[in-house]
Amino acid sequence: MRKILHADCDCFYAAVEMRDDPSLREIPLAIGGSREQRGVIATCNYPARTYGIHSAMPTARALRLCPHLTLMPGDFDKYRAVSRDLQRIFHELTPLVEPLSLDEAFLDVTDVDDFQGSATWMAQWLKEECLARTGITVSVGAAPAKFLAKIASDWEKPDGLTVIPPERVDAFVASLPVNKLHGVGPATAARLDTLGIATCADLRRQPFERLIDEFGKFGRRLFELSRGIDERPVRTERERKSISVETTFEKDLPDLESAQRALAPLCERLSERVARHGKPPLAGLFVKVRFDDFSLTTLESRGLPAVPESFSQLLEQAWSRAHRPVRLLGVGARLVSEEARLQLPLPL
Ligand SMILES: [Mg+2]
Repeated sequence: MRKILHADCDCFYAAVEMRDDPSLREIPLAIGGSREQRGVIATCNYPARTYGIHSAMPTARALRLCPHLTLMPGDFDKYRAVSRDLQRIFHELTPLVEPLSLDEAFLDVTDVDDFQGSATWMAQWLKEECLARTGITVSVGAAPAKFLAKIASDWEKPDGLTVIPPERVDAFVASLPVNKLHGVGPATAARLDTLGIATCADLRRQPFERLIDEFGKFGRRLFELSRGIDERPVRTERERKSISVETTFEKDLPDLESAQRALAPLCERLSERVARHGKPPLAGLFVKVRFDDFSLTTLESRGLPAVPESFSQLLEQAWSRAHRPVRLLGVGARLVSEEARLQLPLPL
């Protein structure tokens, strides 16, 4: 039986700013792009959340909900430095750390002998050390599988500590709403809903073949997750090859023009995600389009600058391959491989 921790800072960027200026603690605070530049909220503190503000919301909308919101552009060099300190603490507990973003990581503590092997004590230690040494509160979840550890860290946020011991996994998962499962986005959730499947207990009642019929390969995953099965290992040397975001539309986009309009928010989400990964060097861009007949096309280009116009060009070429309504749109960036990065000539 494995022991996995998922550590996740509470409103990370905002937490760093509040640490450095305590006068920001009690007032609504958000980190994000400006209204004038049609920016979005990257993160906000809990006072801001009481106004209904959340991450990925357009800044203009956030300011309508809360006109006296304090908006900061964000200091990513500072966030990266705090992130390195946090990662160092994680590594004191175990070498098996898989960072997911600047403020989030999985830790495999199965073979840790300290703390008498108690995942609960380890999680407690992690929270105390992170707070004492970086001034940042971290929510931690502990469970025998990755997807459960991640759900657990979110369970009692902020400053949470939730443990799902092996003997409680079955009951915990049974009552879990399906939209909490790893990989279930709004489109899949909507389809599950029309099938009358609301919880994992409902999912378990579905025959395996039916799930495969309805959801293809993902049907197997649903079958397993609803039984608490998730064998994915904690990957320490994971080398990311690309960063991407995509959306399946509720209604197919009828033409190129409407697809182009849907591109801007995707590009914005992508650039946020690239920033969250510490702005690694990019090797190329791609656009992915699934048409209403489920055919899929991906168009990739190396050497284009990472600006919305580049994606717009790629989309035009991709769309002209089929000239059909668009069901799904994705944008992404290929990363320079670690190997190539090491071979880059050093600046003089
Ligand atoms: Mg977080």
